[in-house]
Amino acid sequence: MRSLLNACFKVLDRTGWISSNRTVVLAYHSIRPPGLYQYSTSAALFEAHLEWLAAHCAVVGFDEVLLSAKQPLGKPRVAITFDDGYRDNVEIALPLLQKYRLPATFFVTTGLLQKDSSTLNHLATYFGNSIKAMGPLDFSGLQILDAAGMTIGAHTHTHRNLRQVSPKEQHEELHKSRAILEDALGKAVLTMSYPYGLPGYAVDSRVSRASLETGYRLAATVHLRAVRPLDNPSQIPRFVVTDENLQDLRTIVFGGMDVVGWYQDATFSLLRK
Ligand SMILES: [Zn+2]
Repeated sequence: MRSLLNACFKVLDRTGWISSNRTVVLAYHSIRPPGLYQYSTSAALFEAHLEWLAAHCAVVGFDEVLLSAKQPLGKPRVAITFDDGYRDNVEIALPLLQKYRLPATFFVTTGLLQKDSSTLNHLATYFGNSIKAMGPLDFSGLQILDAAGMTIGAHTHTHRNLRQVSPKEQHEELHKSRAILEDALGKAVLTMSYPYGLPGYAVDSRVSRASLETGYRLAATVHLRAVRPLDNPSQIPRFVVTDENLQDLRTIVFGGMDVVGWYQDATFSLLRK
């Protein structure tokens, strides 16, 4: 599938159809050797990604993606985000981001921070790992990310699929996570990402409306296309990135994967009816 998309991308690239005036959001999870944890990216590959992004793109904050989507720059804008909240985000990702002077937003599951056993078990089971192997972020790690100038966003409290819980639980997941982070950081938390993130599976208009009503200004999904200026702020598209090589990353950034997002647009709009 990936090689087919790369081949299509090369054709579109040669015909000049691909535009560099794009804004793309990347979603990483854990930075550690692949195989040790699902959705992990090795430190060497992550550094190669950062080096390529710094050289070929304007790396912007996640909170700027709708603003920047309106202003052509001549090269793609890319926002770097992380989901869940792992210790390796501080120990491995942060020094590399600092080396290349790049901003990132970390969407943190507050149940992980608080070592809530239900959240730890839920995520460990989902990813097929032990809690120890998971290596959750703690409050001191959160403070280090914040002090380094990184942005902290929410990722619910217990990492449940917000489409599959009651309105009361949905409200609690959205409010509690925000309150815990704001209390720890002493500042407003205005962004979030949805656990599992797929439109139609983990996000729908009810979920995204609840996010806006909680006070989040921007909320990220897993929707494989560039951000459009008129996108709903509570449904910002993102590409999940794990072991993509530089050619794959280039394909994502310059639009070779967007066809998948257009398919999601079509199917999600059917689900909304
Ligand atoms: Zn997650």
